[in-house]
Amino acid sequence: MTKLVYAFHEGQKDMKELLGGKGANLAEMTRIGLPVPEGFTISTKACSDYYDHDGQISEALTDQVMTALKELESKTGKTLGGSDQPLLVSVRSGSVFSMPGMMDTVLNLGMNDETVDVVAGLTDNARFAYDSYRRFIQMFSDVVLGVESFFFEQELSKFRREKGYESDPELSAADWKEVIEAYKKIVKRHTKTPFPQDPKEQLFLSIKAVFDSWNNQRAVIYRNLNDIPHHLGTAVNIQSMVFGNMGDDSGTGVAFTRDPSTGEAKLYGEYLINAQGEDVVAGIRTPQPIASLQRDLPDVFEQFIDTANRLEAHYGDMQDIEFTVENRKLFILQTRNGKRTAQAAIRIAVEMVHEGVIDKEQALLRVDPEQLDQLLHPRIDHSDDVEKLTKGLPASPGAATGQVVFDPDEAELLKGKGQNVILVRTETTPDDIHGIVAAEAVVTSRGGMTSHAAVVARGMGKACICGCGEMQIDMKAKSFRVGNTTVNHLDTITIDGGTGEVMLGEATMIPPQLSDEFETILQWADETRRLGIRTNADTPQDAQKAVEFGAEGIGLCRTEHMFMDPERVPVVREMILADDLDNRQKALDRLLPMQVEDFTGIFRAMGPRPVTIRLLDPPLHEFLPDKEELLVGITRMEIQDPGAPELAEKKKILKSVRLLDEFNPMLGHRGCRLGMVYPEIYEMQSRAIFKATAALSEEGVEVQPEVMIPLVGHVQELKAMRKVVEDAAIAVTEETGVSFTYTVGTMIEIPRAALTADAIAEEADFFSFGTNDLTQTTFGYSRDDAESKFLQHYLDHGVLEHNPFAVLDTEGVGKLVETGVTLGRKTKPGLKTGICGEHGGEKRSIAFCHETGLDYVSCSPYRVPLARLAAAQAKVNESSRTVNV
Ligand code: ADP
Ligand code: MG
Ligand code: MG
Repeated sequence: MTKLVYAFHEGQKDMKELLGGKGANLAEMTRIGLPVPEGFTISTKACSDYYDHDGQISEALTDQVMTALKELESKTGKTLGGSDQPLLVSVRSGSVFSMPGMMDTVLNLGMNDETVDVVAGLTDNARFAYDSYRRFIQMFSDVVLGVESFFFEQELSKFRREKGYESDPELSAADWKEVIEAYKKIVKRHTKTPFPQDPKEQLFLSIKAVFDSWNNQRAVIYRNLNDIPHHLGTAVNIQSMVFGNMGDDSGTGVAFTRDPSTGEAKLYGEYLINAQGEDVVAGIRTPQPIASLQRDLPDVFEQFIDTANRLEAHYGDMQDIEFTVENRKLFILQTRNGKRTAQAAIRIAVEMVHEGVIDKEQALLRVDPEQLDQLLHPRIDHSDDVEKLTKGLPASPGAATGQVVFDPDEAELLKGKGQNVILVRTETTPDDIHGIVAAEAVVTSRGGMTSHAAVVARGMGKACICGCGEMQIDMKAKSFRVGNTTVNHLDTITIDGGTGEVMLGEATMIPPQLSDEFETILQWADETRRLGIRTNADTPQDAQKAVEFGAEGIGLCRTEHMFMDPERVPVVREMILADDLDNRQKALDRLLPMQVEDFTGIFRAMGPRPVTIRLLDPPLHEFLPDKEELLVGITRMEIQDPGAPELAEKKKILKSVRLLDEFNPMLGHRGCRLGMVYPEIYEMQSRAIFKATAALSEEGVEVQPEVMIPLVGHVQELKAMRKVVEDAAIAVTEETGVSFTYTVGTMIEIPRAALTADAIAEEADFFSFGTNDLTQTTFGYSRDDAESKFLQHYLDHGVLEHNPFAVLDTEGVGKLVETGVTLGRKTKPGLKTGICGEHGGEKRSIAFCHETGLDYVSCSPYRVPLARLAAAQAKVNESSRTVNV
């Protein structure tokens, strides 16, 4: 018989796949002797079985649960539904990867009309017993029976109003008893059956509900966002209850062993006295900072500090810990590696190396390269006069400006229209997740640093402010007030998640300041990685920025943007419209000095680093006016002013536009096919490159130009174009008397080029895989059409796992890259290879490039730090793989 259920003492931390993260860690904490309430875990295997059996709990599982329950009962000396010592349990979901707040938990299970009285008698605390029972009814109804919490909240507010109470602690045992009767009526009304009284039935219904919650909408969205596979399933933990709501000697809280926002090595957390479970996370009451626990319950505080330190040392990483205090006794209910901002991830990793907790290689793996992006973005210039409105808790750093919206659906809608919005809520719940995704930032008026909004925003690297107590939100009027100021729906505000400040209007932004730890970790990355990191840059400014971020060269300098400059467009058009070579040459002669200036600027910015310049690539019609617009203009002119002198000119342009019109420009007359038909264009560009090279060499500036021919499919193309480049170099040397070195290579972006790379390598000094076009030509997709028409459908239906334009398709496109590298190096063993294109800045694609033995990746300037780290991780993972073999 397959084992489906494990007591806590049977598991340990490496069994996450089977027991889920929560279950594995509960087992581990039990194993090392921490005070964890007894319990058992129903494995993810049981969840898969459940789904394989069309959502039925099998007999085998039922039996094993009953056996585990018996064992739990004998250990605790309590019985589920017992009239002597009733056992109360929590039913908690827990998957392999933590999905905070995404799935459901039921507390106080085992309560019914009889056990509640027994509990009241045993604890001599009737108020506590009835409070626990009503919580159970509410949670169970919400999670298991599908009766929304809202109805219960509404009932409770009504009750408080009628009795003249301000807050829940004012309710007596008798009051709660009345509330419970009203609650039961709500259940009856919505489900047509009475609230289930049999604890075993309650238990199995809850297990089923947790299994089902794996596929609720918010959990699915969360998994999609975080690339968590859908087939993993969730485990279910059944754990005997401990109570933080027993009075002022009890409480519940959450703490991180280090600050998850800044990374500072200081215990960071919050708690509520006389409260249960989710009260802290839900943000319903704003909790106390952990430090004041020292005052409230000093001995518990001390024990907690010890436990926190012990857990961090044991796991070798920052921990996120849930605890409950029942009558001054501490219990630990959960631990996991804490989610953190990029800033915190880096600081913690670097400091843990200094503390000797982890080594540099582990530190490199602790930071998600994608997260680095958060740090490279602008901050608010506080010296500027922005009107400060209010201040809340700095829950997740970052600056953002946007229009105020209160509704997550609207946030999503407006984002879809390209507007930047800031989501303002009293508190957020897991159902708001799509709105948080869409918003630039989130602000809540209630809740603490560990509230749902804070945890989720930090995970996404989004700015967030919580517990903005002065903010009075009026959902009906769609506005909020701070003192006398009213901010309406769609007004613009700016927030600083690092300080907690909310400001009116738009603030000025200044460049980011990178921490010493940031530099340190990237330095470690540089020492570790094998791949070179270059950048795609078309201007001296971009080149400069990339060098600051650590780029070691330019992997792709596109020249077409230089042609798009408004002052140049007329000259470029003259070149295109020229009737003969003579006229074309005249236009090219005027473009030459401009291009020399372009390349000089870029070479200067890059100094001795290699610069790959790609000769003109797009089809020529891209430089001409739009056909439709021209036609409309001409027609209008013919009617209004037929004698106008521009009319003839416009007609001439229209004729050329028509001539250059193509059925499929992506596969048309572009790339080296232009250079083949109009070699004078590539000749001019090559001249410009070499003139700049020669002039700078004269000045003593070292320059390494690499001339790249785009869209080669046949070696003859490269051979011919190489000749054009070489002739230009000879000519420039003759004119200037300066000799210089350079290389000529090609982009590999047509399958035929990859397949005949051995022949092409005869004429190439380097290959640069243009993976954007190579993806288009391999799949036969035009990117724009694919992304706007059918790609989403493919992703939704699992035809493709990732958008191949974002994550390199290693099976298809990658095979061509491998083939290209292998064949190319067969001809020229030292052939330099790299990729340019967006994949050069994507971590999985970078890992592939590392494994394939490329020399470098090239990406946009802002992604250079990410690429440095991802390349180092690829190297570290490679050595860990060899160890495993
Ligand atoms: P989540 O994954 O959403 O945090 P949990 O399963 O951790 O859900 O539980 C929700 C809350 O209930 C947490 O605050 C947790 O500490 C508390 N809780 C869970 N089980 C127990 C228990 N056996 N006794 C007391 N509190 C519990
Ligand atoms: Mg939890
Ligand atoms: Mg291309």
